[in-house]
Amino acid sequence: MFNLESRISNLDPPMTHVTNLIGTLQPVGDEPRMPVVDPATGAEIGTVPVGDSSDVDRAVTLASEAFPVWSEASAHDRAAVLHALADAIDAHRDELAKIESQDQGKPFALARDLEIPRAAANLRFFADAVRQTRSEHYDLGGQGFSYTLRRARGVAGCISPWNLPLYLLTWKIAPALATGNTVIAKPSEVTPLSAHRFAELAASAGLPPGVLNLVHGRGDTVGARIVEHPAIPTITFTGGTATGEWIARTAGPMFKRLSLELGGKNAIVICEDADLERAMPTIVRACFQNQGEICTCGSRVLVHRDRIKAFMARFLESVNALKIGDPLDPETDLGPLVSAAHRDKVEAAIARAVAEGGTVACGGERPRGLPDRVKDGFFLKPTVLMGLDQSCATNQEEIFGPVVTVQGFDTHGEAVTRANATGYGLACSIWTRDLERAHKMAAKIDAGMIWINAWMLRDLRTPFGGMKRSGVGREGGDEALRFFTEPRSITVGW
Ligand code: NAD
Repeated sequence: MFNLESRISNLDPPMTHVTNLIGTLQPVGDEPRMPVVDPATGAEIGTVPVGDSSDVDRAVTLASEAFPVWSEASAHDRAAVLHALADAIDAHRDELAKIESQDQGKPFALARDLEIPRAAANLRFFADAVRQTRSEHYDLGGQGFSYTLRRARGVAGCISPWNLPLYLLTWKIAPALATGNTVIAKPSEVTPLSAHRFAELAASAGLPPGVLNLVHGRGDTVGARIVEHPAIPTITFTGGTATGEWIARTAGPMFKRLSLELGGKNAIVICEDADLERAMPTIVRACFQNQGEICTCGSRVLVHRDRIKAFMARFLESVNALKIGDPLDPETDLGPLVSAAHRDKVEAAIARAVAEGGTVACGGERPRGLPDRVKDGFFLKPTVLMGLDQSCATNQEEIFGPVVTVQGFDTHGEAVTRANATGYGLACSIWTRDLERAHKMAAKIDAGMIWINAWMLRDLRTPFGGMKRSGVGREGGDEALRFFTEPRSITVGW
């Protein structure tokens, strides 16, 4: 159990110099490096290689060489390795949670109780899934029969963002490896530390060299080379929509298979009969968990006008009660934003909202009186904005921070229209006691994931992803197993 004493005696992490896993973990050399910063303190806690395309090229050579053996190993053997990786994560759960918290700013408790266990669960889920799959067979009567072979596609490029570092890295590499692909993964250069520790653990989990490669560095060098490399036929990317557009433009003409999990502008719809008392803790989490830096977080709260007064009273009371502070403090609800640059961006979005005629109902500024250790961190109060029309930039563009707007609606049809009135289509949650209405609304909402009286309640078998500018393709369950395999239909005539 995380205990305050050990936390206090061990607050400052040792410097970590991240290195690539290319066949084996590479030694630290004289390559150009960038700082890794603890967003709670502003202190440098490590370095990461700037990286260049030659790192990717070397990794692709090894991954291509490892592919025949790994892809032809039995699903049981591959699954055993993934289980060993999951066990290693479990055995280092507190350590990885602390690394994740200090690298990203998320509350330690969130990393320890949710994200790190989920990273292990991702590996176990796909290990078990490939041991359970069946192949398809079609009887052609007296003429013969067809069957479908699904084989790994080759070297998969897995590019992940900074908000849920190990959770999203494993969400991609687990189905890729389980189905027999070899992997070149690129963690975000902003939060590379948990991936580096994972690479160290992978070495002792029996993963054959070259099967999993982690190449660190900038997106426009290492990431771009993964997208452009002709020997990587499969790209799975989670990140911003602008980056996704570039990847689609580049990889499309090369006929690569693409999964793009991009940004969102998700609505939270509060119907006139919502049970506000029961719903409020989850609604507040849906807005502000991980400082709002989760792609499924709601950023537009749409409230039936008959309930808006009651809603705002409860909502603001709950938001104002959130504790902002040292992410290593078990009492903390909100840590810092991931970087100074990201906080600048979120603050600029709040200033733009005010210029657009919005009013700040709470937050909108940096907190004061933080503990000395974190006084230089990149903190921002959870912010609620009102008085903004759906068409303004604030309600159209992703902010990806602790900022939500509240709008009223008169009819539930209008709520659906407003929920759909952005270019994005990732997630939505609907809060009502009338389940018939909820199902009807859900069927009309243009989002890949819709929760009714819930948020982030997930079964790893369900499709995960969005439509419109939120992306192309789905992850999770069978969707992921199909994505990473190539079907061959084989027909036999009697
Ligand atoms: P980003 O697009 O800046 O970076 C994501 C990853 O792509 C990083 O590893 C980065 O180095 C790499 N990258 C950057 N440019 C690249 C290029 N030209 N070619 C290849 N790779 C490149 O995104 P971010 O700021 O790290 O993450 C925040 C974004 O991620 C938000 O928009 C958020 O909504 C989105 N996100 C989406 C989901 C989802 O499932 N839909 C989940 C989490 C985050």
